[in-house]
Amino acid sequence: MTTALLSLLLLSSAQAPPAATPDHHQRTPDDRFRLQPLAGGVHALYGRGGNVGFLVGPEAVLVVDSQFKDMAPGIVEQIKGVTDKPIKYLVNTHHHGDHVGGNETFRPIAVIIAHDNVRKRMLASPEAILRDFPAQVAEARQAGNEARAKGLEEQIDWAKKVKVEEIPAPVVTYESELRIHVGGETIQVWHTPPAHTDGDSVVFFQNAKVLHMGDLFFNKVVPFIDVKGGGSPAGYLKALDAVIARVPADVTVIPGHGEVTNVDGIRGMRQYISDVIEAARKAKAAGKTKEQFLAEVDLPAYKDHQGYADRFKANAAAAWDELGS
Ligand SMILES: [Zn+2]
Repeated sequence: MTTALLSLLLLSSAQAPPAATPDHHQRTPDDRFRLQPLAGGVHALYGRGGNVGFLVGPEAVLVVDSQFKDMAPGIVEQIKGVTDKPIKYLVNTHHHGDHVGGNETFRPIAVIIAHDNVRKRMLASPEAILRDFPAQVAEARQAGNEARAKGLEEQIDWAKKVKVEEIPAPVVTYESELRIHVGGETIQVWHTPPAHTDGDSVVFFQNAKVLHMGDLFFNKVVPFIDVKGGGSPAGYLKALDAVIARVPADVTVIPGHGEVTNVDGIRGMRQYISDVIEAARKAKAAGKTKEQFLAEVDLPAYKDHQGYADRFKANAAAAWDELGS
């Protein structure tokens, strides 16, 4: 892997705005990793980036999401601390850099699986960088942020040179639903209506009753809704309702960001999205402009959620735009 790809996959939230492979992750724990055994051989692994889940089966390990390039060897090490069974499968819940950035480490050992659009978006990332980044370089220079400009330029160089086969994209992709069988466990992977992106998967460990939701679910964290990546606030409501209707009431839930929880946690996020959409609807009905709405909108109930200052207004803008005129 080139250094430029490395930097692409390491693109940090400090460098902001989300680009081809955004990192909307803010947490910087003192411990690099924290392991939480759940049920039936399924574990949650917190690190930097989207939460990892993994199943230890009698013969093989299945992993959900790979965080960043620099985190992936540590993820493998954590798994090796639990089992000597080989890692054979990696499921990517969506294409963002804080969930697929470590794919390169897994590619030689595991079959990488995701929704069709994850592969499409990862393979299209050089094109997206060449299209979007030159303007961002100019913006960064204007703002006097030379470090960011340099980082972006490195990625432009990478995008010019990279060969498509060098991108560690999923090699098994699916359209609506797929099952993976590891020992006695059946892992259901299904695609939801466009919500966080247009390539979201949830991963349900049927016997263990554990659900990994990727970034369909941010637990007590204000979500990033990647509208450019096919995401949608209204789609979030549909997707969350569909998931709640499908899983058992006593399921254990691993969110993409935030702590492991249960179905009530998902309902909390659904309420947040619903409240944002409702605020936009009310402002529109009251004849406000988008600018007025964004200047005034505030949902104090969610101020304690991580990322409120960074992402709430963007969520509100997305809800406003989606309502149309
Ligand atoms: Zn994401």
